[in-house]
Amino acid sequence: MHAIGATYTRAVQRAGGTPVVIPPMMLETDWPVLIDRLDGLLLSGGEDIAPARYGQALEPWTGLVDEERDHTELGLVRAWLARSKPLLAICRGHQVLNVALDGTLYQDIMTQVTAALDHAYVTSRPMENSVHDVDIEKGSALARILGGHRFAVNSAHHQAVWQPGQGLGVVARASDGIVEGIELADYPFCVGVQWHPEAMLKVSDSMLPLFEAFVAASA
Ligand code: MN
Repeated sequence: MHAIGATYTRAVQRAGGTPVVIPPMMLETDWPVLIDRLDGLLLSGGEDIAPARYGQALEPWTGLVDEERDHTELGLVRAWLARSKPLLAICRGHQVLNVALDGTLYQDIMTQVTAALDHAYVTSRPMENSVHDVDIEKGSALARILGGHRFAVNSAHHQAVWQPGQGLGVVARASDGIVEGIELADYPFCVGVQWHPEAMLKVSDSMLPLFEAFVAASA
């Protein structure tokens, strides 16, 4: 079975796009077909990326990994970026974008980052609930799109971007310094966010402009 949260597909649809789900078992030969036919690529949340993908040994605090999905997403993202088409990356997707451009991750925030806030997923907390603020860089595409510099966001991740990948600018952080937003410079539309804007749409429209800008860039 391949599955994706309906919040992602509904967010794209609500922003005026036609969502098409890509199964996580694509081969190199599929990538050019997808890139030719699709207008935008949204990378969704999910399990941890295998640390070997970013040059680290597997530590016990990395959770479930899916090698097939890593292969599909990392390969597709690299091929996609070479064609300069719009990309919106959410949570795991934001980490995939970073790793695809040779960035690295913290395998566990609470173990590796001193005085970090608790960013992790909590089963009993609704996904749309705000957990911490993010400060967004002035002059960034993210600030322009969202129309502000500070937002309360949800948080459901135990890993985070450590060293940003080639060409990626850090454009949003939590108050503990954890990277929450990245952008690819000199690129039509390539934004990664560590929070879950698609889930926030359940209670607020504050993140709708992000999907609208992605769909508009893809149109
Ligand atoms: Mn967070």
